[in-house]
Amino acid sequence: MSSISKFLILSALSAAFFSTSVVAQGDFQVTLLGTGDPIPRVDRFGPATLVEVNNQKLLFDVGRGATQRLVQLNIPLRDVDGVFLTHFHSDHVNGLADLWMTGWIPPWFGRRSEPFEVWGPVGTKAMLDHMEIAFSENTRVRIPDELLPPEGIDTLAHEFDEDGVVFEKDGVVVTAFAVEHGELIKPSYGYRVDYDGRSVVISGDTTFDENLIAAAEGADLVIHEVALVSDELLASSEQIRRIVAHHTLPEEAGIVFDRIGPKLAVYTHLVLLSNPPEFPEAPLASLLTRTRVNYDGPLIVGEDLMTFIIDDSVTAYSRMP
Ligand SMILES: [Zn+2]
Ligand SMILES: [Zn+2]
Repeated sequence: MSSISKFLILSALSAAFFSTSVVAQGDFQVTLLGTGDPIPRVDRFGPATLVEVNNQKLLFDVGRGATQRLVQLNIPLRDVDGVFLTHFHSDHVNGLADLWMTGWIPPWFGRRSEPFEVWGPVGTKAMLDHMEIAFSENTRVRIPDELLPPEGIDTLAHEFDEDGVVFEKDGVVVTAFAVEHGELIKPSYGYRVDYDGRSVVISGDTTFDENLIAAAEGADLVIHEVALVSDELLASSEQIRRIVAHHTLPEEAGIVFDRIGPKLAVYTHLVLLSNPPEFPEAPLASLLTRTRVNYDGPLIVGEDLMTFIIDDSVTAYSRMP
């Protein structure tokens, strides 16, 4: 494909973002519920990506605000069939207890009567067990008072400790692959979802990683994390340098996208480092220009509630009201 036709595709996608009209739903679509990082900002909630495929709803990470975003989309919380954790950094799991407990209470968005199922690396079961203990008084009083089914607040962990298929149902296959998020930050995984010859890859938190590139071979849609920091801020602080060393820079992501060659690459989990007023956030546009050094294919900087429909091509629209 020439770079001119790629540019046209990107332009068409960009135009679609300004429309809030509802596009027909596909049988394989991906929605960014949160595109932020640990910073509690209101325009980008914590990392969470919803994959709706063949009538299943799979949620990858549960950052702050994921529950609000699901309800914003009129999706009952009980309809989440499975949660998949990439790793245990707080920004990826701090919405977990909210989704678990709020999905059980009596209003329309709650009423879960089956266990809350979570897939993740070793450590997932311990976290869920301790979560049950931490909130046991809530469980104890609500069961008799609100006549809630006890099994709806049970948790069920599915742990893994190596690359491979972790979930398979009705033609939907989820594969986990290890990513390099830092020497001290293990385990850390990314995920690939395959259905009917189509696929999405979710990077999780990672540095430039050959294992991710291999696992993403032939993927239609790549949802990737990125860190943006000005040279001045980077030079100013060892702590900033340590954070940046755990993530992928736009130039590196450009190499990843170029090697994979997806129908669409999307940035999420925007690690936008700053230390105001001396070091303000680098302009968001520089994410694109710095990626373009190594990649000239279709690329979008994700926003909360952007949805991508994976069909013969990948189309995008915004569901933000
Ligand atoms: Zn992390
Ligand atoms: Zn993170």
